[in-house]
Amino acid sequence: MPRGSQSKTVSAHRIGSLLFCPACGTLLDLPRDDQDEIPCAQCGRLEPASSYENLPTKTYSSPHAFPSPLKSKRGLVQNTMDDGEAAKERDPVAQEKCQKCGHIGLSYKVMQLRSADEGSTVFYKCLNCGDQTSLNN
Ligand SMILES: [Zn+2]
Ligand SMILES: [Zn+2]
Repeated sequence: MPRGSQSKTVSAHRIGSLLFCPACGTLLDLPRDDQDEIPCAQCGRLEPASSYENLPTKTYSSPHAFPSPLKSKRGLVQNTMDDGEAAKERDPVAQEKCQKCGHIGLSYKVMQLRSADEGSTVFYKCLNCGDQTSLNN
């Protein structure tokens, strides 16, 4: 029985939370739950698992850098686009006076009659009361 050659008083070298074999410098594995000693993979030295107990345990307080990725509410794009069809049917407005209600602002539409000889007819529609009149040019 060798005497004192393999002293267990020498504790493992500790770097951070890692233990290294004091005999050969090999990084020691973490002890399993049922392990009392960690054998050095290189030289077979047994390091007591208790050496790990006093290790400064790093608490990884993961900073919640991104609490909850704010879902951009840009998905709801306001549809301010003009309705092309409605705009097309929107008649121009003439600053004419409604004969019925006196409202100024009649939408008008110029209609070409059957033959060019008869000229065109302008149809007015009151924006206020809806009264429609037509004027023959
Ligand atoms: Zn070793
Ligand atoms: Zn009117």
